[in-house]
Amino acid sequence: MGKTSKDKRDIYYRRAKEEGWRARSAFKLLQIDNEFNIFEDVNKAVDLCAAPGSWSQVLSRKLNENHKDASEKPKIIAVDLQAMAPLDGVIQLQGDITKVSTAEKIITYFENSKADLVVCDGAPDVTGLHDMDIYIQSQLLLAALNITTHILRPGGTFVAKIFRAREGSLLYSQLKIFFEDVCCAKPSSSRNSSIEAFVVCKNYSPPDDYIPHMLNPLLTHEPLNYEDLKDVNKYVVPFMVCGDLTQPDSDACYPLNFGGGEYSYSEPIQGPIDAPYEEAIKMESSGSKPKNMKKSTDTNEDCNKPQS
Ligand code: SAM
Repeated sequence: MGKTSKDKRDIYYRRAKEEGWRARSAFKLLQIDNEFNIFEDVNKAVDLCAAPGSWSQVLSRKLNENHKDASEKPKIIAVDLQAMAPLDGVIQLQGDITKVSTAEKIITYFENSKADLVVCDGAPDVTGLHDMDIYIQSQLLLAALNITTHILRPGGTFVAKIFRAREGSLLYSQLKIFFEDVCCAKPSSSRNSSIEAFVVCKNYSPPDDYIPHMLNPLLTHEPLNYEDLKDVNKYVVPFMVCGDLTQPDSDACYPLNFGGGEYSYSEPIQGPIDAPYEEAIKMESSGSKPKNMKKSTDTNEDCNKPQS
């Protein structure tokens, strides 16, 4: 697919293949780091919704760079609904982050210690019903935040994908209860046409009397109307574009030889494991037509698609 589709002209997709990242999402985390310095003093990290694993690759690279001066070996835990090909030094867990059982397994790994950084690039399979997609995405973010309140050390950082929507301010206000600094970031590798952005929350400092509890999901037990919040509880988050003007525009098409030199096709770094479309490909090559093939949409722009 990448050989002939518009992916070939997507500069970040091509660069991901050339530089050995499993997905173009790697550039989003790297650009967020350029702006917010999120890996400083980080030795233990959790990657929620990690497949195919480009954020885990970035974590592994950055934490191992930090490790040169630290005594303890870096600890990285990657969690996803889908199986992920192994990555050196990354502990993998397959499970649904909205389920208490998965959350408990993650917490068990941190029984006697705390994480310095939790990242979540979770995105649901989009239905095309905008409000529904935004709702499911915010539930993923809240599930990630709930897990985070159990395992993040005070002062730690949380970075998560968010779909920018009308009621987004409520989520920001909820995050502001737990973090001193909350910012909304749009890396230049994230397409303008996509409603995704990332919340970068620094300096974890939960309210003194907050007791994390999985069976009483965070702040979702009572309906809350943003308009009813008192001014002091409303928070307008700064919006930052990450990536300077030297970075290519993710919505533009560039010639294959952009940046100079001859273009040569690179194979994907990591082929999909047990791809759901494999059966359809087999049926197509044997001449029978696959039924009910799902159309892809571009909200979930970087993963779950064939890479070659
Ligand atoms: N950050 C990844 C990378 O760089 O390779 C890409 C993540 S992809 C955009 C979103 C991922 O969220 C998918 O792999 C999907 O399986 C995962 N996901 C969606 N809902 C989930 C859930 N409830 N629990 C765990 N993972 C979930």
